[in-house]
Amino acid sequence: MGINEIINLQRKKRIGIMGGTFDPIHQGHLVTAETARSKFLLEKVIFVPSGQPPHKKGKVISNKEARYLMTVLATSGNPYFEVSRVELDRPGESYAIDTVKYFRSKMEEGSELFFITGADAILEIVNWKSVEELLECCTFIAATRPGFDLGALRDKLLEKLTVNHLQKIIPLEVPAMAISSTDIREKVKKGLTIKYLLPVEVENFIYKNNLYKN
Ligand code: NAP
Repeated sequence: MGINEIINLQRKKRIGIMGGTFDPIHQGHLVTAETARSKFLLEKVIFVPSGQPPHKKGKVISNKEARYLMTVLATSGNPYFEVSRVELDRPGESYAIDTVKYFRSKMEEGSELFFITGADAILEIVNWKSVEELLECCTFIAATRPGFDLGALRDKLLEKLTVNHLQKIIPLEVPAMAISSTDIREKVKKGLTIKYLLPVEVENFIYKNNLYKN
């Protein structure tokens, strides 16, 4: 590799999109985003709370403004983190392909986009809208919880995708992802403590707004 190519590589902007429902956002999400930022040399990580997740029809999820505010509260202390309302303000169902195309249209030519999300969500990626185009537009960083079966993920994805596509999905082990939003909601419902599982500002927001009680 010549010196000019090395300089170009160094100049290439790398942006992370952190996609999730964030109901609620917790330390596992924050550690995932920060680990990905540092490991993949991302200039910034933009948190994108889902608007209307197409795979959650009929499931109860918290009001989108509450999820947005919790995400803003949780990320405000990190200068490399931003929050986008793009999926919240876009009418209709929230498809990752629309979000990725939106950010691509705002980015400089030659920039690289990384979509960070949970490996359990990636397990279903073959059913996402325009999956092949999506894998051509960005690289996925799949955060795994301890004990996650990477072989099963690979086998499932290879049923419908090529090895080239699979190379665009990079697993990232994040022990802090032992924390889960489902578990936090259950704990609040049962009156159990959630202290230290999520930022104190988010914990206070949950109690003040009476979230997850019913
Ligand atoms: P989900 O089904 O609620 O979560 C699946 C798993 O992934 C859970 O274990 C979840 O843990 C974890 N997870 C979710 N977001 C994460 C993140 N950013 N970092 C680490 N772990 C994460 O998934 P979801 O939140 O609704 O969707 C995840 C992303 O995939 C969103 O951006 C969504 O828009 C996208 N998606 C797109 C399509 C599509 O385009 N058709 C379909 C499905 C999902 P927690 O519960 O603890 O967060």
